[in-house]
Amino acid sequence: MTNKINITLSTTKKEKPASNQLEFGRVFTDHMFVMDYSSSKGWYDPRIVPYEPITLSPSSMVFHYGQTVFEGLKAYRTKDDKVLLFRPDKNFQRLNLSNDRLCIPQIDEEFLIDALKQLVSIDKDWIPTAEGTSLYIRPFIIPTEYYLGVAPSKFYRFMIILSPVGSYYKEGIHPVKIFVENQYIRAVEGGTGKAKTGGNYASSLKAQDEAEKRGYSQVLWLDGVEKKYIEEVGSMNIFFKINGEIVTPSLNGSILEGVTRNSILQILNHWGVPVSERRLSMEEVYQAYKDGLLEEAFGSGTAAVISPIGEFFYKEEKMLINNGETGELSKKLYDTLTGIQTGVYEDVFNWVVEVK
Ligand SMILES: *Cc1c(COP(=O)(O)O)cnc(C)c1O
Repeated sequence: MTNKINITLSTTKKEKPASNQLEFGRVFTDHMFVMDYSSSKGWYDPRIVPYEPITLSPSSMVFHYGQTVFEGLKAYRTKDDKVLLFRPDKNFQRLNLSNDRLCIPQIDEEFLIDALKQLVSIDKDWIPTAEGTSLYIRPFIIPTEYYLGVAPSKFYRFMIILSPVGSYYKEGIHPVKIFVENQYIRAVEGGTGKAKTGGNYASSLKAQDEAEKRGYSQVLWLDGVEKKYIEEVGSMNIFFKINGEIVTPSLNGSILEGVTRNSILQILNHWGVPVSERRLSMEEVYQAYKDGLLEEAFGSGTAAVISPIGEFFYKEEKMLINNGETGELSKKLYDTLTGIQTGVYEDVFNWVVEVK
């Protein structure tokens, strides 16, 4: 593959939204990165071009069998006007894991980091500056062969688009209410749960919709075999603090390994906080709650970073956690992670990558 990225700059600049009006994923920057694949050429023609719609035949495979993968990460602007990416190597590593599961060809990860840096650099005026805001980065791959047969596509398009996003917590970090899902399943071992693929999200919508109608903001997913063991919360990984120890479900083949999850585990180890990655049943969490030992619970993911859980609805009962308030450890982890991401805290783990 030639590593030279062709750049075509946009002749017009779109108006940027005010930072207090930013939503998630509604507005996109002036440019995007595009690269194509064919079995004969491999990945070819990497280019940065003006953000614009793309044209595909209705028979393009992307519209039919869901052979897609994506990633999500963020760029942050520091107080002294530097631009930082948070562990982009982990995202592109995971992209290749997802690619492998979905029969999509591998991509050179070093090259992708370089391409991302060039794209973010070109659109860096789009990175909002207000507290809690950032530039959300969405790399994704679609199959582009015009064919209705069920088989891996022979052609693909890889793209990166950028979207300035507001603070996830408009009124400061606050806990959410979670419905423990006992009917629908997100993923099973052997399925696609550990890949970041659109189908996992499509199959989660119904449960999410029903939970919202009951007044809950997300669902807690249990394992697909026994419906007993805790897997994830919404599209986040999950942690509990039980009697002083942090417990998170071990990666079992159906859980998506979050970059945030991995970072939290490293931070906790660094702090010397006892952590255990193991199989954890909802019954065990319920028992800990009954015994007064369930101290905190939170989700983790790029969008919210840490999302404290104030209540679970389980077996027709409301389990209130930490009085429905954000726990001390949840808050400390949130401050630490966002501090490192925005250059306020020292990057002792060597996680941030500067975009010049
Ligand atoms: C993306 C994702 C996460 C969180 O991953 P991060 O890398 O921390 O953003 C967790 N669970 C699911 C199902 C996901 O798709």
